[in-house]
Amino acid sequence: MNDLLLMLGKSPAARNVFGALKLPIPLPEPLARGDGAWTARPLEGATALVGGAGAGELLPIITGALAEAGAAILVDDPARVATLREVAQAHARPVGTDSADATDRAQVLVFDASGIDTVDGLRAAYEFLHPRLGRLARAGRVVIIGRERAASDSAQANAVRAALVGLAKATAKEIGAKGATANCLAVARGAELRLAPVLRWVCDPRAAFVTAQPIAVTARAAAAGRPAYVRPLDGKVAIVTGAARGIGRATAQALAAEGARVVCLDRPEDSKDTSELAREIGGTALLLDVTAPDAPAKILEALGDRGADIVVHNAGITRDQTLARMKPEHWDAVMNVNLAAVVRITDALLPKALRDGGRIICLSSVSGIAGNVGQTNYSASKAALIGYVDALAQQLAPRAITANAIAPGFIETRMTAAIPMMIREAGRRLSALGQGGLPEDVAQAISFLASPGAQGITGSTLRVCGGALIGA
Ligand code: NAD
Repeated sequence: MNDLLLMLGKSPAARNVFGALKLPIPLPEPLARGDGAWTARPLEGATALVGGAGAGELLPIITGALAEAGAAILVDDPARVATLREVAQAHARPVGTDSADATDRAQVLVFDASGIDTVDGLRAAYEFLHPRLGRLARAGRVVIIGRERAASDSAQANAVRAALVGLAKATAKEIGAKGATANCLAVARGAELRLAPVLRWVCDPRAAFVTAQPIAVTARAAAAGRPAYVRPLDGKVAIVTGAARGIGRATAQALAAEGARVVCLDRPEDSKDTSELAREIGGTALLLDVTAPDAPAKILEALGDRGADIVVHNAGITRDQTLARMKPEHWDAVMNVNLAAVVRITDALLPKALRDGGRIICLSSVSGIAGNVGQTNYSASKAALIGYVDALAQQLAPRAITANAIAPGFIETRMTAAIPMMIREAGRRLSALGQGGLPEDVAQAISFLASPGAQGITGSTLRVCGGALIGA
């Protein structure tokens, strides 16, 4: 990575100079990322301020999740303190009241908007955020929690659901310069108990590059095991394609750090890097081209009777050219690696090798959402994966298997290092956080989707894009 502005941004002196000169180039705030394996109390030492509209039905779950993660709790409404104190005290965390004119800084602001069904009701979200956003800590988190659309909802209630997403996206842009994020969770009725692990994760430093996202928490996939917050993947077997470098390598490392035994798959010509990685993380190397006719059979053989719990379809290539000039072999190569191999391997794994309660995670791209000049082949293949996981999610819900896509934005890897300089700069800066992400950011999101706590998320495409303006 060679991001000069980000390097300057790490220096308080440079920040002061840029501020004093009022230069039109904002220095991006270096992100406060988490590293290493998940911990029991990732929010230890943080203060979370919670508030809600109407009955604030989800506030006990929200408070419990944040307190269990180690945060001290402040409540906006004194009338709710008594009930919520009991919840937080179960996790030995204090509860106090917050007044709008207080000067202390919260790291986390969570607003329960699940009780809002009317346009007038939306003002409560403004009233909660307006006096507090300015004193949100650097690298802070804003989470707005509403309901997923139900068939019985009025058109006005649905407008409210959409308004909350717009509010979170615009808030993300307003606070991005602080290295802070804002996201909107939509909880389906019946999925309330699946909210806590998702909320905890978006507030975790490991989700530093996930911002401006709507995330649906549903009861779609059948229930599986209880969420675990430390070594959540203990005893699981994962296979990661394209594991030799970049996002795949970081993913294999992250899954192994949470306890999974990882089969690291890459092409035979990447034997050295893949084998070294497998040794480093206590996994195994599997050297094959995912497009080879016998690839599915070889994968089944490598997994043996035990099968796999987690499949990460990460191997991907670009062969950029405008459609008018694109050679047929470049169309075919991209379709074969990015899409056809994913479908063939998944088809082979589904009957028996992928265990019930399993996880399918496909690497899509923001280019698949927005389309990109010179990437008709790539954008089509990555868009296809969004439709693919949506359909798989429905089909596999009774087996408690979830299927999701991750759409990275601009991530600092070999793939993006090859982009011409001016386009690369635009890719980094045109986002709420004003910088590129790291392979670890994507790997952390994949680990989360692979964990038992993500049972409520299926059929979704999660952007890990720093709030990229493209396709948003
Ligand atoms: P990378 O080029 O650094 O790594 C890709 C890996 O896939 C390589 O190790 C390569 O050997 C392997 N691979 C390619 N073809 C293969 C084949 N036929 N069989 C087996 N392995 C094969 O790429 P990356 O940037 O880490 O991207 C990983 C995934 O994320 C890709 O699917 C990519 O499209 C997607 N993505 C990346 C970005 C980004 O900004 N880097 C953005 C959006 C999406």
